[in-house]
Amino acid sequence: EKFKNGLSKTRESFVSKMNDLVSRYRTVDEEFFEELEDLLISADVGVNTVMELIDDLRGEAKRQNIKDAKDIQPLISEKLAERLQKDDSENALNVKEDEMTVILFVGVNGVGKTTTIGKVAHRFKEEGKSVLLAAGDTFRAGAIEQLSVWGERVGVDTIKQQEGSDPAAVMYDAIQAAKSRQVDVLLCDTAGRLQNKVNLMKELEKVKRVISREIPDAPHEVLLVLDATTGQNALSQAKTFSEATDVSGIALTKLDGTAKGGIVLAIRQELDIPVKLVGLGEGMDDLQTFDAEQYVHGLFA
Ligand code: GDP
Repeated sequence: EKFKNGLSKTRESFVSKMNDLVSRYRTVDEEFFEELEDLLISADVGVNTVMELIDDLRGEAKRQNIKDAKDIQPLISEKLAERLQKDDSENALNVKEDEMTVILFVGVNGVGKTTTIGKVAHRFKEEGKSVLLAAGDTFRAGAIEQLSVWGERVGVDTIKQQEGSDPAAVMYDAIQAAKSRQVDVLLCDTAGRLQNKVNLMKELEKVKRVISREIPDAPHEVLLVLDATTGQNALSQAKTFSEATDVSGIALTKLDGTAKGGIVLAIRQELDIPVKLVGLGEGMDDLQTFDAEQYVHGLFA
C-alpha cells in the first residue's frame, strides 16, 4: 500500500499519458510505438532500456497478433516486471547474524543520505537490533549535528568528532565503540563530495580500509543514496560512485516526490546495481525494501 501511495505521482502521470495515447491510436502501428517510446523516456526509464523494451513489445505484438492499442498496456507492465525481477534475492540487505554488520552510506549532499540512515537505524531497532551511528561526514557544515538529531529521534547513539576532523579517525572510534558495546549494526555516514573523483575514491578507500582492518569482511554493504527526483543526474552519480568504489546496492529516495519513477528501471538496467531500499516520504517509517512486483504494480495499476 505504501509503495503504491509513494508512486502515485508517477502512476497518475504515466496512466493519463498512456490513456491519451491509446485513445488517439486505436491500432498499434509504428507511430504508436514511437510515441510510447517518447512517453517512457520522459518518465526517466532510460533510453537504452526503453529501446530494448519497445523492440520487445513490437515482437510480442506481432507474435500475439495484437492490433488494439489498449491491449499493449498489460504487456508493458509484464515486460517491465520481467526485467526487474532478474534476481529479487539481491534486494535484501546483507545482514550478519553472528557478528556486527557494518553499512557504509555514500552519495552527494542533499539526496537524503542522513534521512535514510535514520530510517535504516529505526528499522533495525524495530527488529530488536542494537544500532550505532558514525558521523563520517565531517566536511559538510551541520552534517554531524543533523545525524545526531536523527539518532536521538530513533533512540540510537552517534559517534562523532569535530567538523573538519579526519573521517577515517571517526570510523576508527566508531568501530571501537561498536565493538566494546557489542552492537549489532554500525551505520556509517560519509562525505558526499563529488567534484574530484580521485579525492572521492581516496577518501572512501581510506574509510573502508580502517573498517576492514578492524572487521575483515566489512563493510558488508556500501549503499549509494540517490534522489529519484533528479532523474538522469542520479544515473550519472551512480556511474561516478561505482567507478570510485564497490557499490553493493542503491537506496533511492524521494520516490514519492517524482513523476519520473521510471529511474529505477534505468538504474537496474544500465548499471546492474540492485536497488535495495526506496524512500517514500520524510518520516522514519517511510522506507521500504525494493520489490519489483509491487513497484511495477504501483507504476501502472
Ligand atoms: P543529505 O544531505 O543527503 O543528508 O539529505 P537529507 O537527509 O538532509 O535530506 C534532504 C531533504 O530530503 C530533507 O528535507 C528530507 O526530509 C528529504 N527527504 C529525504 N528522503 C526523502 C524521501 O524519501 N521522500 C521525501 N519526500 N523527502 C525525503
